[in-house]
Amino acid sequence: MAGPIQLRFVQSATDESQLPSSPAEVTFVGRSNVGKSSVINALSGRKKLAHVSNTPGRTRLLNLFEVDAGKRTGSNQLGPTLVDLPGYGYAAAPGQMRGDWQRMIEGYLLERERLEMIVVLVDGAVGPTKLDTQMLGWLRGNDLPHTVVATKHDKVKSSLLDKRRNEVAERCDLERGDVVWVSAVKGTGIDRLRSLVRSWLS
Ligand code: GDP
Repeated sequence: MAGPIQLRFVQSATDESQLPSSPAEVTFVGRSNVGKSSVINALSGRKKLAHVSNTPGRTRLLNLFEVDAGKRTGSNQLGPTLVDLPGYGYAAAPGQMRGDWQRMIEGYLLERERLEMIVVLVDGAVGPTKLDTQMLGWLRGNDLPHTVVATKHDKVKSSLLDKRRNEVAERCDLERGDVVWVSAVKGTGIDRLRSLVRSWLS
């Protein structure tokens, strides 16, 4: 199935246990400002979705969307889902809150059944931060399936792109071809990411 991924907002939650069970799920995680809302909007071909998830408070919750709901017929059961996790490393958050976020995110990632893929967004314009590499180390330590997506491809000068691609892969301890590069602004790599998301959910 080609084209935009339809996303229907289902529910927000503070805890994994509050979410309905899903037959297959992909989740998006990354530090605040990495471009996560922009990528999710680009996948869905809509601008309004960010609006939904940026409703005050929602950015601190687990936000669950049903994928391509309108394209399935004859079933009341929840189809495959996409979860937008709160951005990590928000410097302005008080220590206690950071702890709560961490528990929410880690609890979700460890407990969620049928979590097929964790998409870890890193900022392609600045390269992976220490928090990003810590997150990758934690995912590997827990044997959780993950894919690195580098955002803001359009912000990297074309003369630097080759070098930056090597740097990002190296910092993430991956082969260069394993990192998916996207630009939400220009649409670069978005079709490829849509296909990957659909393949993980099928
Ligand atoms: P989030 O906090 O991870 O959800 O990040 P946002 O999607 O809100 O984006 C953070 C900032 O980066 C905003 O100012 C966006 O306009 C900008 N941004 C996001 N994606 C891109 C991109 O692909 N290219 C460029 N140039 N800017 C981007």
